[in-house]
Amino acid sequence: MPPLVDTLPADWVYICEGGATIVLSYHGPSNPFFDGTVLRLRKRALDDTDTDTVHDSEQEDPIIEFQEKCLERLISPTHLPRMKRVLVGADSEKWLQALAVQCEPLRPLERRQKDEIDRKRLKAVLATDLVGGEGITVEIKARCRACFYSSPKWGFLPSPIYLSNATRPIKTQTCRFCMHSHLKALSSSYCPLDLFSGDESRTKKALNSLWDAWADRHGTVNNFRVFVNGKNISPTEQQCIVGLLSDIADPKEAVISALLPVLLDAPVLHTISRLQRTLDALDIEGLARLCGLAPIGTQPTIAEWTDFLDAYLASPTTPPPADATHLRYHVLAYLLSATFKDCSVLVRVPNGTATVIDLDPKSVDRLRKWEQLDREIVTAYAAVPNRKICVDS
Ligand SMILES: [Zn+2]
Repeated sequence: MPPLVDTLPADWVYICEGGATIVLSYHGPSNPFFDGTVLRLRKRALDDTDTDTVHDSEQEDPIIEFQEKCLERLISPTHLPRMKRVLVGADSEKWLQALAVQCEPLRPLERRQKDEIDRKRLKAVLATDLVGGEGITVEIKARCRACFYSSPKWGFLPSPIYLSNATRPIKTQTCRFCMHSHLKALSSSYCPLDLFSGDESRTKKALNSLWDAWADRHGTVNNFRVFVNGKNISPTEQQCIVGLLSDIADPKEAVISALLPVLLDAPVLHTISRLQRTLDALDIEGLARLCGLAPIGTQPTIAEWTDFLDAYLASPTTPPPADATHLRYHVLAYLLSATFKDCSVLVRVPNGTATVIDLDPKSVDRLRKWEQLDREIVTAYAAVPNRKICVDS
């Protein structure tokens, strides 16, 4: 595998970014190693004062090992991107600096204010390019935070002891996504529980709402993106879709009727929803009560993740008791549920594939922040007079 410095920074085109990485696709001269791939580069926070450390440890980008040893036990590898590690090569900092300068104007403002490409990295990750080439790819952010505690379908036992009297009536009626959207004044009829329902008309309703929000907000929503022949299009460019998928003259209709059978047939949405629920058995409220003021512990190692998955997979719907002895189990379960709440699904049509991406392990340090955010959202939403009623599947 040749190093990245064998290519020019200009051969890589910015596509998008998540919390931890930036993704670029290869558009350089034909190269058997890089054709059809995307590059995932780690970012660093602008307020990170440690600018001297050179990161060379495999642990610095644990995604490949995490995928091979953990994620593939939960999601079929056919629905995961193929990934491999690549060296940046000689003069890596200079090469990454040139790439960072080139990407900067294309990055969303709110990201630019927070972080940048980490130029000290010696390695990066190459993955299958799931949006490039001919065809249409739609990216849907999962964000299905089902806060329902009595869903018999999932065998997810209601645990009133984990919710306070104040939050129970709210959290069991309105899903977390809808509470948060309301408070951010993002009026949309989209509810992730419709998307994850497995029901054709509700899934269609969710896709319609996602499309409308994307069109109304000029493509600035972060839970829906449309790529046509590798290009992230804006709603004003949607006419280019017509004729690519079917003879349907309306682009929205053409895309949704192509996506719908893929989403209903592929097990990915069902799997993500099941993992989110069964891994988040206590809710952050219950977990916070269990942790109390005790330190939450260190970032799990791969060995710890493996042991956790052995226990979880032996009995996914019956978690161990919420007591101090099993605190670590519940911390790891919650962290993993957060990974599945934050992932995206890429649906490619007309070839009909669905791939789950953005499955990075979450930092244990964020648990306290999530608990605080959860409290703020539920407290603020409690004051809303006409609360939305979300329907669980
Ligand atoms: Zn909802």
